[in-house]
Amino acid sequence: MADLARLSINQATTREQHSLAEAIAAYAGAGVTGISIWRDKLDECGLDEAVRMVQDHGLRVSGLCRAGQFPGGDAASRQASIDDSLLAVDQAVALGADCLIVVAGGLPRGSKDLAGARSMIRDGLGAVLPHARAAGMPVAIEPLHPMYAAERCAINTLGQALDLCDELGPGVGVAVDVYHLWWDPDLQAQIDRAGERVLAYHVCDWLVPTTDLLLDRGMMGDGVIDIPQISAWVEDSGYDGLIEVEIFSAGNWWKRPGDEVVRACRERIQSAV
Ligand code: ZN
Repeated sequence: MADLARLSINQATTREQHSLAEAIAAYAGAGVTGISIWRDKLDECGLDEAVRMVQDHGLRVSGLCRAGQFPGGDAASRQASIDDSLLAVDQAVALGADCLIVVAGGLPRGSKDLAGARSMIRDGLGAVLPHARAAGMPVAIEPLHPMYAAERCAINTLGQALDLCDELGPGVGVAVDVYHLWWDPDLQAQIDRAGERVLAYHVCDWLVPTTDLLLDRGMMGDGVIDIPQISAWVEDSGYDGLIEVEIFSAGNWWKRPGDEVVRACRERIQSAV
């Protein structure tokens, strides 16, 4: 079971309860080590203020969510995603984040060209990486469950993400999220292949039944994922960074008091991760 000192909470877990300032205060006040910050919340409070608050509370930033969304129907929209991702690199550096999370993007509207979308993802990442490398900011490709291939992310397995890393060279790795990857029969082998390229580890649980494919994630221990097994594989890869709880739960956890959710994260990382 995981050490409490490795706990980070992805801000989305209390998205409905907390502003960024409130999340920072609540997590730090509960003795949580890290936070993963979302850029929409960052924009609400401003980068300078966010940097000050994170430093004042002594929180480690396990990741900044997110850059990417590279496929687009025209060159202008693709360039806009690249420009936005370059800005995200600078924000992640200012926050001292462990990595910048990339959610690559799905099919452009009206397109059925999945291979083309994946080429755009490779080209977009290739355009962002030189700046990220120069800034010393590791970029973490997060494969998303294949049910999101059309609208959110056409990188859907760890193997596919690592193929991209192989192609793109240094400065890029992967985020392993149990929710997206637990079903993959090749998962252990691909985590082993990733080695030091595992840049982030995200946990929650898969509920049965799942009533909403985006907003019904479970707290660790409440679903069917063998999280300790995956944690052991991630550990064996050499990853010793923070373990991030990331739960989107419109019907349950987002309705509970923020302090109760933070308490549950603290308990479950020690009992179910
Ligand atoms: Zn994740």
